[in-house]
Amino acid sequence: MIKVMAINAGSSSLKFKLYDMPEETVITEGNIERIGHEDAYYTININGDKIKTVLPVKNHKEATNLLLDDLVKRKIVSSLDEIKGVGHRIVQGGDYFSDSVIVDDDVIAKIDELCQLAPLHNPAHLTGIKAFMEVLPDVPNVVVFDTAFHQTMAEEAYMYALPYEWYTKHRIRKYGAHGTSHQYVARKAAEVVGVPIEELKIVTCHLGNGASIAAVQGGKCVDTSMGLTPLEGIPMGTRSGNIDPAVVEFICMKDNLTVSEVLYILNHKSGYLGVSGISNDSRDLEEAMQRGDKRSKLALDIQYKRIADYIGSYYVYMGGIDIIVFTAGIGENCSRCRSEVLRRVKVLGVELDEEANAKARGEIRELTTRDSKIRAFLIPTNEELVIARDTVRLARLIQ
Ligand code: AMP
Repeated sequence: MIKVMAINAGSSSLKFKLYDMPEETVITEGNIERIGHEDAYYTININGDKIKTVLPVKNHKEATNLLLDDLVKRKIVSSLDEIKGVGHRIVQGGDYFSDSVIVDDDVIAKIDELCQLAPLHNPAHLTGIKAFMEVLPDVPNVVVFDTAFHQTMAEEAYMYALPYEWYTKHRIRKYGAHGTSHQYVARKAAEVVGVPIEELKIVTCHLGNGASIAAVQGGKCVDTSMGLTPLEGIPMGTRSGNIDPAVVEFICMKDNLTVSEVLYILNHKSGYLGVSGISNDSRDLEEAMQRGDKRSKLALDIQYKRIADYIGSYYVYMGGIDIIVFTAGIGENCSRCRSEVLRRVKVLGVELDEEANAKARGEIRELTTRDSKIRAFLIPTNEELVIARDTVRLARLIQ
């Protein structure tokens, strides 16, 4: 039995999950937030209890030391030698990485170069990797990319109809996101129905605050809704998803805004929040809708329509669909979202099991009836587990 750490480092946060492998049991998890502040806080889950400490944490190295010292102090590990590998989530791997890899100088240089495509995420991930390399110099680090699973898309799916030089000079193309989640739930779906994934056409709907859809044919991603950045695709909690790009100049002129200001609004003030004017959280919108708030209903309806549009287009692109999967915060918890989407794609051969769907929450459930041509499932995602598995696989921790 060996211990492996899965890390998701943000600009001021460090989320962690410690696993016993190959058993895949979670030993503990938690996060350190507000890194760089006097009142940073460290939360660790011990046997179901969340223990929170407020303390100053200067940087990610200090956060890493704090975490590792605490694991020893609490006897979660008897010594740091027990941790045999650390896996890191990386948002943007560009077209360099179609699988997870062991960290070396070249990998670090590439992640650094790709900061231009993910300016909020990649620099933070690098800070996390460097912190662990310093604090645990003999332990292998593995990086797991959100984009890697989407690297199998054909040119016709990932290229935009823009001047070709924008691609060759500036690498403007579709990269996608949430790949780790799409891959995990697609494989799990194949396992659940007991059919080799090579024989299946699956649409995976990762519906969280950020949301994307993927078409997975024969186990490989053939299309996905997010693009160069996570702004493309379906409307989300605060993101607009697809719009006519001409809106940008139009609103710049009307409201005297800069392009950056408009992009900020498209990323942070649109989607559920922008249309409803109430919240980016589907629970708040559902509540408001029950009270008769029309804009909340509209915000949800726009999203459901667009999800159904993607499912329809992937049906055509793959020449059919065997399974539709719902996952992430909304997909796992919001039965109305699932029923609204499945109702809208009924024509493809989806027979919703209303009762099963109403009950489904947070665990694997079939959502369609026995005579449904397309089967739909709720499958909880587990990106951290993929990170832990890939760390074991690539660092060859278990022979
Ligand atoms: P995620 O980004 O996957 O953590 O998903 C977060 C989103 O899931 C929240 O913003 C909510 O909109 C949604 N969500 C979480 N729990 C529920 C719930 N019980 N019912 C409806 N929506 C939920």
